[in-house]
Amino acid sequence: MKKHLYIGGKWKEAKEYQTLTSPFTGEAIASVAMADSLDVEEAIQAAKNAAPIMAKMPAHERASILERAVSIMEERKEELVRLLALEAAKPVKTGRAELARTIQTYRFAASEARHIHGETIPLDAAPGGEGRLAFTVRKPIGVVGAITPFNFPYNLVAHKVGPAIAAGNTVVLKPASQTPLAALMLAEIFEAAGLPAGALNVIPGKGSVVGEQLVKDPRVAAITFTGSPEVGISLKNKAGLKRVTLELGSNSGLIINHDVELTDALIDRCAFGAFTFSGQVCISVQRIYVHQSKYEEFVQRMKEAAKRLVVGDPLNEATDLSSLIAPKEIGRMEEWVEQAIKMGAEVITGGERLSERLYPPTIVTKVAANANISCQEVFGPMVMIAPFETLDEAITLVNDSRYGLQAGIYTNDIHAAMKAADQLEVGGVMINDFPTFRVDNMPYGGVKESGFGREGIKYAVEEMTEQKLITIKIG
Ligand code: NAP
Repeated sequence: MKKHLYIGGKWKEAKEYQTLTSPFTGEAIASVAMADSLDVEEAIQAAKNAAPIMAKMPAHERASILERAVSIMEERKEELVRLLALEAAKPVKTGRAELARTIQTYRFAASEARHIHGETIPLDAAPGGEGRLAFTVRKPIGVVGAITPFNFPYNLVAHKVGPAIAAGNTVVLKPASQTPLAALMLAEIFEAAGLPAGALNVIPGKGSVVGEQLVKDPRVAAITFTGSPEVGISLKNKAGLKRVTLELGSNSGLIINHDVELTDALIDRCAFGAFTFSGQVCISVQRIYVHQSKYEEFVQRMKEAAKRLVVGDPLNEATDLSSLIAPKEIGRMEEWVEQAIKMGAEVITGGERLSERLYPPTIVTKVAANANISCQEVFGPMVMIAPFETLDEAITLVNDSRYGLQAGIYTNDIHAAMKAADQLEVGGVMINDFPTFRVDNMPYGGVKESGFGREGIKYAVEEMTEQKLITIKIG
């Protein structure tokens, strides 16, 4: 299967193609075009040319295009899920959940397209402002450069393409090199849905080539990036006055307070939060702090839950976890476990590869605060569990991080819940749930090194529009 670049509504051959291999089998699955700098130039110009067409398009038409894209995705659901299993090793049941959310995200975008509006301003509140009517409108920003990661190839693209189209912008999308097929499929879907040529351009290629050019080109008005903090922060440093939204990594913490009953549902939820898609989720539960009175029981029950999970072929209906995105990540897991053990940690379950491409759900305790498993983003099927004595101590432990995306607390004590909500240094606090909770209309984003700006259609639309003031002097 040979996949070309999608620029200006046409499939374009590239000078260079790269073999895409399946993370699970290691076999070639496609030959994918790699954009060079001339291709990027052409894609940006195509988006620039289409910008006035999109800016003039009425809201109901933009909404209808998004709705038609949703219908096509619904018709082709199983094919789309299979693609995720092939290029990302995402188990089919996890892929179905991503697709359902993606459809929801585009539905929110269609709805938002119909509701973008400004406000009236009471200018007569200021002396000299009398006799004027003032209002704002939200204007599309123009060309949006979108750079996306491998872990949610449909839904994280939807969080950029959806609001950009809803707001009347055009997009140049650079998907992750390991998951270009889902993004190229999207180009096909939006073409069939009637999106004008040039409004969405999809150009797989090296991050260092395509990403760098997008961030430096003055025709690109906004950069929306989801990926690692290292790349995100360097992009922001180069972006000058461009709008920049960054959705970055984390080592999310969860507190289990003394007053909580350890039900099967709670244990299963924690295991799901730690191990779904092999922990390759930005809000994966990485650090669980359990009140000392419940600690031993919690560790034992999490061990049993981890052992129940099925590791294997992503196309198998029973599979919970499959391969990490690249075999080198398994080497990293092993190094990090070894480092933690040297610093005094104990492996409760897992900790050793099952094969060249499979790593099991792993639970580690007694992890030093400065071990990578605690202070870096694991992005693998690994969770550390530690006891605490007081809630203040647990909050301090969660906050002892360079990251701050989301955090969770299980408690029946309203005072404990509200204290945690107030003091946890994160973009979102989930009370009586894990930090992995996300639905697609909530404001989503981080503090510290976890990000800059917010997604969640309505909030992304704010980032992708300019507020313009209009005043009318009457009489
Ligand atoms: P990544 O390595 O940072 O890559 C993300 C994207 O950036 C890819 O398209 C990549 O292209 C591109 N890129 C790489 N180097 C670049 C450069 N110098 N300039 C511009 N673009 C460049 O991240 P990943 O491994 O795909 O994803 C994992 C990370 O994403 C984790 O840290 C995770 O927490 C974070 N994430 C955050 C959220 C959130 O919403 N907060 C959601 C999901 C993931 P190539 O693939 O070609 O290298």
